[in-house]
Amino acid sequence: MYTFKHGIHVLDKKELSKDKPIRIVKPSNIMVYPMQQHIGAKAKHCVKVGDRVLLGQIIGTADGFISSNVLSTVSGKVLSIEDRLTILGQKSECIVIENDGKDDAIEGYGIERDYNSLSAEEIIKIIKDAGIVGLGGACFPTHVKLSPKEPQSIDYILVNGAECEPYLTSDYRLMIEETELLIKGLQCILKLFPNAKGIICIEDNKKDAYEKITSSCNNIANIETALMKTKYPQGGERQLIYAITGRKFNVSMLPADVGCIVDNIDTVISIGNAVCKSIPLLRRIMTISGDAFKDYANVSVRLGTNYKDVIDVVDGFKDKPEKIISGGPMMGQAIFTLDLPVSKNSSALILFKKDPIKNLKITNCINCGRCVSACPINLIPTRMLKAAKADNYEEYIKLYGTECINCGSCSYVCPTKQPLTAYFTYMKSAVRDYQKSLKEKEAK
Ligand code: SF4
Ligand code: SF4
Repeated sequence: MYTFKHGIHVLDKKELSKDKPIRIVKPSNIMVYPMQQHIGAKAKHCVKVGDRVLLGQIIGTADGFISSNVLSTVSGKVLSIEDRLTILGQKSECIVIENDGKDDAIEGYGIERDYNSLSAEEIIKIIKDAGIVGLGGACFPTHVKLSPKEPQSIDYILVNGAECEPYLTSDYRLMIEETELLIKGLQCILKLFPNAKGIICIEDNKKDAYEKITSSCNNIANIETALMKTKYPQGGERQLIYAITGRKFNVSMLPADVGCIVDNIDTVISIGNAVCKSIPLLRRIMTISGDAFKDYANVSVRLGTNYKDVIDVVDGFKDKPEKIISGGPMMGQAIFTLDLPVSKNSSALILFKKDPIKNLKITNCINCGRCVSACPINLIPTRMLKAAKADNYEEYIKLYGTECINCGSCSYVCPTKQPLTAYFTYMKSAVRDYQKSLKEKEAK
């Protein structure tokens, strides 16, 4: 079975929501669309206050090479363009739309298309227009990722069905419920890469999804499935590529440099929707879970919907939550209010009764080495921590600390509860600034 070296086994809690079919959430009356929902330059608004907009209409255009369109997911009227708090934890420009509930759509919306009749350029343009970004968390614009310098040098399109974060089950539900569209989406991608093989990679805690997909693509020559050992962070790009192909790359390289492109399950399904059904990226599939909720769910939510309206689906809270996480508990981000719009990077909403960090007692490192055994990148977290605490950037660089993928495995296993990952997140950005200032000094 495919796997990578090191990593950890986490209590995954997927049983809470894995058998909950995807339910559709009603969009809010007031929808909010941040212009920054992706890596790269923020989109530039292209509507004005008072305009009537349609379902699927571009309201923010990609502004620069690495950027992405933002689309209206309802029909209605533009109420304002203003700075609002977003899931990224800061205020940024948003378009606020009053939903008229009619869902009047743009021309051509929902029309079936045969991807075989489209050229590579046409497929890339559809993906760009549809505002598709990597839905595994990174939100990198997909049309850019699918346009490497040498498409003929790509050997593998790896579809990341690991979903190794605890609690998350939305990709699992999609693999079961949207198998056909997933395969269609992958066929659309393969049309761009003449020498590539598509491999749908699934952890062995989702064997039913693996079996269903394997039997559905049995007769397709350039698509296979791969069963991977359940281990965290199996879904990390580097771990996935190594597990399936044995190829390695570092922080200064892209997967395309080793002949691979990795796309998440929902990204591939969104490509299938856009290319084959003329339906752009309008919704996120999210898992709603955690011990503060009365019930758990997998939901399809239109982008722009307020989180407060999303949690109505699970009848609200059992207990007032102390901790709210957007995304998975290992790599997601703590948020402090639910009065936020669902964005392209909203993969899950996990609410805990108690904040696991709040009363954490940190004691001295006992040099047990567990963090070293856990690190999937073969780093030495205990020494990196010393360098971080001393703000010793040179030492941190020497220890290859900038290769850290912030997976959280070292913090998870540490018996003395050192906040290793938090230090490394800080150090990576401090080292970037330090290296930039060195370059500027050299240039003077
Ligand atoms: S796991 Fe924690 S206690 Fe053990 S060596 Fe690493 S930092 Fe120290
Ligand atoms: S957070 Fe960084 S140092 Fe810690 S285990 Fe993950 S990659 Fe290694």
